[in-house]
Amino acid sequence: MSITQLQAAGRKVGEIPRPIPAPTYLPGPDEMPVDFEQDRPETEPDLNASYRAKADNTYSNIAGPKGDFAIATLEELGFSVPATTPHRGGESIALKRLEDIFLNEEYAATFQKPNTSPTAFEPQSTTLLSPMLHFGALSPRLFYWKAQDLAEKYFQWASKPPESLTGQLLFRDMFFAAQAAIGSPFAQTLDNAYCRFIPWHLPSKVGTKEIGDGAISGEYHIDSPLAETWFKRWKLGMTGFPFVDALMRQLRAEGWIHHLGRHMVACFLTRGGCYVHWERGAEVFEELLIDHEPACNAGNWQWVSCSAFYSQHFRCYSPVAFGQRWDKEGEFIRKWVPELKDLDKKFIYEPWTAWKTTLSEAGVKIEGDGLHGQIDGTYPAPMFNFKERRSVCIAAMKRAYSIGLHGDDDKMKNGAWKKLFDEAGETEMEGSIFRWKPRQLIRSQSTVPEEGPMDRYVKKVKR
Ligand SMILES: Cc1cc2nc3c(=O)[nH]c(=O)nc-3n(C[C@H](O)[C@H](O)[C@H](O)COP(=O)(O)OP(=O)(O)OC[C@H]3O[C@@H](n4cnc5c(N)ncnc54)[C@H](O)[C@@H]3O)c2cc1C
Repeated sequence: MSITQLQAAGRKVGEIPRPIPAPTYLPGPDEMPVDFEQDRPETEPDLNASYRAKADNTYSNIAGPKGDFAIATLEELGFSVPATTPHRGGESIALKRLEDIFLNEEYAATFQKPNTSPTAFEPQSTTLLSPMLHFGALSPRLFYWKAQDLAEKYFQWASKPPESLTGQLLFRDMFFAAQAAIGSPFAQTLDNAYCRFIPWHLPSKVGTKEIGDGAISGEYHIDSPLAETWFKRWKLGMTGFPFVDALMRQLRAEGWIHHLGRHMVACFLTRGGCYVHWERGAEVFEELLIDHEPACNAGNWQWVSCSAFYSQHFRCYSPVAFGQRWDKEGEFIRKWVPELKDLDKKFIYEPWTAWKTTLSEAGVKIEGDGLHGQIDGTYPAPMFNFKERRSVCIAAMKRAYSIGLHGDDDKMKNGAWKKLFDEAGETEMEGSIFRWKPRQLIRSQSTVPEEGPMDRYVKKVKR
């Protein structure tokens, strides 16, 4: 599905209605007694269980723990630690933010998504209205008509979909429409006729008694211990690639990262580095995003992993060059990876290329594997040689595209895919183990050969 198809369908449906005015009065719980049976929502799997100190009692009463329909506090949800995100919810904040965005008519009318920056913080470069839309604190129609009225006012200068603000809302609707067409298989590869089958590492386990045979279960097979390690390091922001780690740490602390940042980390986990299943990444986003929206999350993961919607699998994001394009000084990394805050901008995106003396002058110790006993103030070496992994992934994607299976194909379901991929020749190897050694200054910097220590210490391991 594409934006153009959605626009064509939209024209048949007719003009988007303007939002209706807000009610001037709402009855309180005393005036409107709740006299119907409460449908208790599913509480398993409880992805937050490990963070709870006490039981979640928010469902003990339909009107909430205090009977006042108020949003549950973190304490009522069973958490003992305060929220780390600075982003706050609620309609008043949503409407104020919307108003502020449209007060700057030039920003809103000429908004072009590809020109916004994934490294901008305080303030971010996009609207940050996604959590508000998700929780229903902001009407998408109100947002749309604000943007559309402005686009009409500045018709000649205004940006157009898909880059404009109305274009962003179209993407949202596109993923909702795609999900509506096929239902729950949209969130997985299995039984999804539009999603390419790619034999990623860490594939989902399928079907449990509770959720039925055709659904993924939230659990996965560890087909490669190395890929499992990469996945865990990615999740923690400990990959040894500072730009990826900064984004993953921002996601964990704040629950929101810029769209292009999401592209960077999703590409890195899937077709541009780890070759790990997009469903693993989508689950982590589901756990950490404050704007988690099932259709938008699954749809965008399929897009970025080139499983559906987008197919230019030979174009990968570099964890070094992509960030540098937006933030040459590395300020974003300095904020989120404080271990590297004093490192010269020349090395901040790739500290493993710095001289031993440069590292020690900046107080940087490259040490540890990012998982076990990472000592405070140390930062791990990169978990693989990115250039090598990129080539391996591109070759593997090319093979998967030429075989051309999709999620509803019998060969995918009965395991016959393995033979097809073996016959096509193995191109996806388990990866390279990178053993970092500090770069010693033995000659003047200018006479040291181009090849860095990373290239020299790469070891290929066949699966
Ligand atoms: C791997 C991945 C996972 C994602 N998961 C989610 C998710 O769970 N929930 C979610 O709302 N968005 C998701 N997105 C889309 C997008 O990144 C966010 O909507 C956007 O970054 C939110 O920030 P904003 O409100 O400042 O966006 P703006 O650029 O200001 O856009 C305005 C609104 O348009 C909508 N929008 C913009 N881009 C997209 C898009 N590509 N897909 C769908 N809607 C879009 C959002 O509702 C957003 O609030 C994901 C993107 C990627 C690459």
